[in-house]
Parts: sequence; C-alpha cells; structure tokens
Amino acid sequence: MAKFYYQIKGRQPAGPNREAEWAWPPVFSGMAEADNRKLAKAQIEELYERQFPQRVLRTDMTDHAYLLHIQELREHDTYLLRRFEDTTCKECGTVFKLIDKYNDPNTETTSHNYCTEACKQAARFRNVQELRLVNEGRAPAVIYQVRQKSTGRVYVGQTTQPFTLRWWQHLSYPTSCKFHAALGGSDITDWEFSVIEVIVYPADCTNRAAYITQRESHWIEALSAVEAGFNTIRPAGAVDQTQVTLPLADLA
Ligand SMILES: [Zn+2]
Repeated sequence: MAKFYYQIKGRQPAGPNREAEWAWPPVFSGMAEADNRKLAKAQIEELYERQFPQRVLRTDMTDHAYLLHIQELREHDTYLLRRFEDTTCKECGTVFKLIDKYNDPNTETTSHNYCTEACKQAARFRNVQELRLVNEGRAPAVIYQVRQKSTGRVYVGQTTQPFTLRWWQHLSYPTSCKFHAALGGSDITDWEFSVIEVIVYPADCTNRAAYITQRESHWIEALSAVEAGFNTIRPAGAVDQTQVTLPLADLA
C-alpha cells in the first residue's frame, strides 16, 4: 500500500476581467491509501460519488467544476505527512490535525504548532517574557562610559541591561541633564560608547547593587566625570578610595 495526497480544487468562475481559475486553497485535501495511483483515484471518486478530471485544458474549463490532483507520498514528504498526524498544541495541549485546519474554510489559524490564534499569541507573549528574563540573567552588569571625542568629556553609568540598550535609552528618552543636553546638541559621530568594567562580584559580596554602585563611583572619580564630564551627581555610597588612581591627563 502506498499513500497518496490529493487535493480537489474548485473552479473560480471567470469575472468581467478575469479568466476562470482553479481556486486556492483547494476545496478539500486528503490522503488515500491504495496500491497505485489509479486505485487511489477510484477510491476518491467512490467517496465523492463522482468522477474528477486530473487535467483540464484551459479552453475546457467551463465544462468542469473540479480538478483532482494526486501525488504519491514518499517517506521524505514529511511536511505533507505531518498534516495528517496528531499534533499537540504547544500551548494548551489540545490534539489537532493540521489537515483539518486546511480543510476548514473558516479556520482562524493554519499554525503548525498551536490549535488557535489565541494559543499562538499567548505563547509568543510568554516567549518574549522568557527571552527578557534570560537576557537579564545572562548579560552581566557593567560600568560603561559615553565619551565625547571632541572634548574627551565622559559620562559614566552602570547597567544590568545589555549595554547597547542603555545607550539607546539615553538617546531615546533624553532628560534635561547636562549629558543629554550635550548629546542632543551634537552629532552622533562625536560620541563613543564603551564598557569599561564588567562587574565580577567578589566571593563575599552580600549586596550586589551596592557593589555595582561602588564600582561606578570608582570610575566617576577616576575619570573626573562630575567635575570635567557629564555626570551630574556622584552616586550614593562609599567610593572605593584605594582604586581612585587612574591618570586623568587627556581629559579636557
Ligand atoms: Zn491550544
């Protein structure tokens, strides 16, 4: 026995400026099991109690309402075979067959993975949430600087988000602080954004947020980001005085 995939296409009548066409999607798609194509065709015709042409000349289209397409399914035709298999909705667990969706002219979704559009949307929303959490967990906290090339003045900040996102936020949600004022009043090519420290928490660290702020304070002092740069205030918390020894010579 072989498996045959078949489609019954219906004729879409000719319009004022349109020739008759075989409409898409097919009226029905199904599978027949038979020893050969001829027997498969006989089986389908018995099922519908009528005969179907498999080829119709364009000039004869008005004589035929339906066209039958039969193709033998091989093992490697997995995308067609899958349509006839029980599929479990990845969101709610409902079992469905994709072929039933293709045969339902009112189907709301032909998703291969979800039973309904609502399940598809719910899964998409959850995936976005999960991606966000994964990113937050994976991206290490960093101290970054935004440096104005023409003046050497810097802005130092900390972020636990992917650092390119933070840079984008500075540009997209400007406030009236001197950093954003300088950003807004100059060409983007005058700025460079870089990570100056990837936070590695000491083994005995008990307060991660405080530790990040401590490292930020270190860099703000080291780069004179308040006096000569764009930071407005020093972050609250102790400055690590033992590490405030970087040369400041080339800052304006
Ligand atoms: Zn579902």
